[in-house]
Amino acid sequence: MLSSRRLAFCLCITVTVIVFCTSVVAQPTPLRSITYRLSMSRPVSHLFEVVIEIELPDELKDKPVELQMPKWSPGRYAVFDFAKNVQEFRAMAGICPPRAQCKMSPRPVKRIDDQTWQVDTQGSSSVTINYKVFGNDLSGTFSQLDERHANYNGGSIYMYVVDHKPDPVKLVIDPPAGWKVINGRTEHPGQTEWQFANWDIMIDTPTEIAPDWTVDDFQVDGKKYHVMVHSFGSEGGKRSALVRDIEKIVRAETAMWGPPEFDEYTFLIHFAADDESGDGMEHLTSTQIIESGALGEPGVYDGALDTVAHEFFHVWNVKRLRPFELGPWDFTREVGTRGLFIAEGFTNYYGHLMSRRAGLWDDARFLKRESRTITGIEIAPGSRLMSAEDSSISAPFLDDAPHAQKTNLENTSISYYPKGELIAMVLDLLIRGRSGGKRSLDDVMRAMYEEFYLKSSNNSYYLRGRGYQPEDLQRVASKVAGVDFEDFFQRYVRDTQTLPYNEAFEFVGLRVNKVQLKEPFNAGLSVQFDDPGTPLIESVRNDSPAETAGLQSGDRILQLAGRGLTKDNWLQTLARYKTGQTVPITVKRNRRTIKTNIVLGEPERFEYRIEELEGATPEQKRLRAVWLNGK
Ligand SMILES: [Zn+2]
Ligand SMILES: [Zn+2]
Repeated sequence: MLSSRRLAFCLCITVTVIVFCTSVVAQPTPLRSITYRLSMSRPVSHLFEVVIEIELPDELKDKPVELQMPKWSPGRYAVFDFAKNVQEFRAMAGICPPRAQCKMSPRPVKRIDDQTWQVDTQGSSSVTINYKVFGNDLSGTFSQLDERHANYNGGSIYMYVVDHKPDPVKLVIDPPAGWKVINGRTEHPGQTEWQFANWDIMIDTPTEIAPDWTVDDFQVDGKKYHVMVHSFGSEGGKRSALVRDIEKIVRAETAMWGPPEFDEYTFLIHFAADDESGDGMEHLTSTQIIESGALGEPGVYDGALDTVAHEFFHVWNVKRLRPFELGPWDFTREVGTRGLFIAEGFTNYYGHLMSRRAGLWDDARFLKRESRTITGIEIAPGSRLMSAEDSSISAPFLDDAPHAQKTNLENTSISYYPKGELIAMVLDLLIRGRSGGKRSLDDVMRAMYEEFYLKSSNNSYYLRGRGYQPEDLQRVASKVAGVDFEDFFQRYVRDTQTLPYNEAFEFVGLRVNKVQLKEPFNAGLSVQFDDPGTPLIESVRNDSPAETAGLQSGDRILQLAGRGLTKDNWLQTLARYKTGQTVPITVKRNRRTIKTNIVLGEPERFEYRIEELEGATPEQKRLRAVWLNGK
C-alpha cells in the first residue's frame, strides 16, 4: 500500500525493552483450540457470518474470554474501526458439530469498549461465538459480499481472542453452492479448510469466493505462481498477455532478490469496472489488486501491471524485510513507524525500475515517470515542511484516512510514497556513482534482507527475523557503498532539504532541468468541477493570492469579473488575465455569497524533466545502462 512520515528512537533501548518483556512476561496458556467458520448464506445482505469455536484449558475456563475486532489492518495505517460493521454478537456454551441441531445455552456478553466483547463463560470449557460483519467495499483493506462474490481482507472480518493472537487457528469456509474458494495458502482445488500458525497469518491471507474467477499459472525458479482474475467487465482477450507480462515482472524482481522463500504465490486481481474501486495490498504469499476499469479498456492493462510490479516487490520489502514496528501489531491503536518511506517509497521506486528491467517500459517512459514524481514533490508546499520520516510517522493521518475535521494537510504534508521513491533513486545513483558502478541500492536492499530477515533470530511469534529502524538503512548503505551517508540521511530523510538530483544524475549522464510552465499568472488555488458545473475550490495554498483574498477550500466560484464560470469556459476566461491584475471574484460559502478581489501573482508552476546531459561520456552511459537493465 501507500503512505509516509516519522521520528527517531534509540534502537538499543527499544531492543532491550523487548528482550526484557519477552523474558519476564509469562505468555498465557494457549487455548486448546480456536476454529473460525465463515459462511455467507445471503450474499445480497452483504453480511458475512462468522462463528468462532473456542476450547479453553482448565485454568482459563472460569475467566472471561475477550474478543476484539482490530481497529486497522496491516498495509493501511489509518484507523478504520472495523468494529463499526459488526452486528448480532452472541455467545453460547459448548460447541455444536457442523450441521447438527444443538440446543446451546447463551452466555452473558458485555461490550467493554468500542472494539471488545467480553464473554462470561460461567465455567464452561468451550464457547461458541457468532457474529455478522457487513462488507460492501471491494478493496484490499475492506471486504465485499454481494451476489457476484465474496472477497475479504481478514482484518476486517475476523476478531482475535485477546492474549491469544499467537495461538494456532483453524479456518473453515462454507461457500454458497457453486462458488469456489482461492487464496495464497490454497494447496489443492476445492480446499475449504486451513490451519494457520497464528491469527496474524490467517488475516494475512485475503480470500476470494465466487463461481466464475479464472486462474492461470506459471513457474519461475521452481516456484509456482497463480494469477486469479475476476472480471466484472470485458477482458478484451487480454488476459493471457497480462499473465505473460506478470511473469516478466516476477523474473525481473526475483533476478534482483534471488528466489523467494515461498513455494507458491497468488495474485488475486479484480477488474471492478465500477469507476471507483482501486487498491493494491501486499501479503506474505499473495496480493490483492483491484483495478477500477475493465481489462479490455484503454490504460487498465498498464495500470494493473504497474500495481503488480509494486505489490510483488513487497514480498521482500515490507512483508519480510520490515520496519521494527510492523509485525506483530497492536490493533488497539494506530502504529507509527518512521520507516514507511523505505517500505513504501523504495517499493514505488523499484516498482517503476522493475517495469523497465522487465522490458515493459523503455528508458524514456521510466525517466518520464520519475520526472513526474520529482515535479510532484518539488512543487508541493508541504515538501519544505515535512520530512520523509515525519511523513512516515503521520501515515495514520495521510493513508486515505477519513477526516471529519477540516485540515491544512494539503499545504503541510507530503506522501512518503513519492518522497521515498526519490530518496531511493538519488541514493541508488550516488552509490553507483561513488563506487564506480560496483555497488548499488540493490546490494543495500539485499544486505538488509540478509541481516534482518534471513540471518536474524526471530523476535516474535509472528515471523522470521526482526524489524529495522531507518538508522539501520543508513548504516548498511554506508557500509555497502563505502561512503558515510550520515549527511545524506540528515539532510534529505530527517530534514526537508531538496535532494541533490543533479549530483546523482550526472553519474549516469543525465540532468534534471527545471522548466517554468507557460502560465500567465498564479492564483494559488486548485478547483474541481462536480455536478452543478461551477468550479469548486479544492485547495488554497498558504501565502497565496487566493488566501489573501480570503478564499477557502469548499467555496464555489460563481463569477469572475461578473462572468459566470463553467467547465467549458473556465480556461478561456482565465486566459484573459495576467500577473498583477486585480479581479473581482464572487463565491458561495454555505449560505453566504462573498464578493472579494484577487490580485494575481507571478506564475510559479514548474516542471522537472530528467534529460540527457550534454557531452555524457561512455562511462556515464555504461553506468546508466547497468542501472536501467539491472546488469
Ligand atoms: Zn505498497
Ligand atoms: Zn471476486
